[in-house]
Amino acid sequence: MRYLSTRGGTETVEFCEAVAQGLAPDGGLYLPETFPDLSPLVDAWSGLSYPQLCHAFFQHFATDLPDSDLEGAIYSAYAGFSHEETAPLVRLNDQWQVLELFHGPTLAFKDFALQLLGNLYELQIKKTGKKLCVLGATSGDTGAAAISGLLGKSGVEVFILYPEGKVSPLQERQMTCTGADNVYPLAIEGTFDDAQRTVKELFGDLSFRDSIGLSAVNSINLARILAQSVYYLYAWLKLDPIKREHTTFVVPTGNFGNVFAGWLLTRMGIKLGGFRVATNQNDILHKLFGSGKYELGEVYPSLAPSMDIQVASNFERLLFYFLDGNTEQLKQVMKCFREEGRYAFEKFTIPGFSSSSTTDQEIPEIIQKVWTEYHYQVDPHTACAFKDLPANEPAVILATAHPAKFPQVYEDAGLGRPTSPILEALLDKPPLKYQLSVDAREVRSFIEQKLNP
Ligand SMILES: *Cc1c(COP(=O)(O)O)cnc(C)c1O
Repeated sequence: MRYLSTRGGTETVEFCEAVAQGLAPDGGLYLPETFPDLSPLVDAWSGLSYPQLCHAFFQHFATDLPDSDLEGAIYSAYAGFSHEETAPLVRLNDQWQVLELFHGPTLAFKDFALQLLGNLYELQIKKTGKKLCVLGATSGDTGAAAISGLLGKSGVEVFILYPEGKVSPLQERQMTCTGADNVYPLAIEGTFDDAQRTVKELFGDLSFRDSIGLSAVNSINLARILAQSVYYLYAWLKLDPIKREHTTFVVPTGNFGNVFAGWLLTRMGIKLGGFRVATNQNDILHKLFGSGKYELGEVYPSLAPSMDIQVASNFERLLFYFLDGNTEQLKQVMKCFREEGRYAFEKFTIPGFSSSSTTDQEIPEIIQKVWTEYHYQVDPHTACAFKDLPANEPAVILATAHPAKFPQVYEDAGLGRPTSPILEALLDKPPLKYQLSVDAREVRSFIEQKLNP
């Protein structure tokens, strides 16, 4: 299997290369050149465990990786999940089931991709002998999941910038209490956007980038997308076969990586009912599906902070298919969007997509209602999935984070505080963080000093 760039300016590459690069050299995102037809495999795959299914799936995509390496990377990635089914389906009523994606080490769905990515990086380093330095900015969940996926991996050093005082105390503890000596949480004076800008500036510094083998772990990495396709397939295989074609997957959405991963299955002969893109009050994507207008707005911090985004970076991947692979047109759209912050499609309809948006006022109301009706606790991101959800159609709701990660919403709503032993255990560990200004030169010299003491 080879991978092409959405912008058409790069030769196709194999899986390992696409994973190592993250972003394609022409600025585009990698996509598989062709897709396997999985429909003849459905029966054989139905009884597989999560890691077995993941392995069988990746055999079609990671074709340049020795099979025993692939298998080892996958099995060890999911060994640390606390639920024996890895991604259990929980039934709420006749029509609705929840796919719990929060049983990984940092209690959010990002663990599915980042635990595997960490192992793939390790294989890469073994093969090339070249060390990697991972740099990223986070407003919370990604940083914690990236750190957890990479901690203790030999040959990898991890620097994660986050805005001091602007991530939740639990999220900060998840990043700073790991005890790993290859992890540097950098508490930056400023906002998330400032941290992001500094990271971009450092990536733009090519001599620095090459000298230290800089790599990104944001959700544009192809391996992250493919790793997420697996849990959709796993859930779909568990559905009543009569209902499979009619079941909608409801996805709390920010950067569009998660829902895009599910949609890819429809290119592989898997028939399902569709996708519901559930946004919070930052509703750029909801507006796009409603009106065809893709328009940047201000970001309003919400109770579901991991969905507070401005530009949905994975949207470019869907756009590639929407434009039938016309890379020239895609580049024009992206250019217009970059320069003017908006683009109006004549019509933006892709069969099978619907959308919703949920305000901060509605989130606690939904949490309360789901608790009252089903005795089930959802976190503020997952709560958004319930907005205007049709009651008479089968749906799988993706639970993207454990409710204990966001206890404040529960306390404010007068509900009991959800807990998790994994988070409780962090309280006993000493935090370690480095306080820096947001100045790129200061961050750069910090990194250089840690890499070459
Ligand atoms: C990252 C995140 C999301 C958004 O996922 P995207 O792939 O960016 O659409 C939703 N919920 C939680 C809890 C997250 O951490």
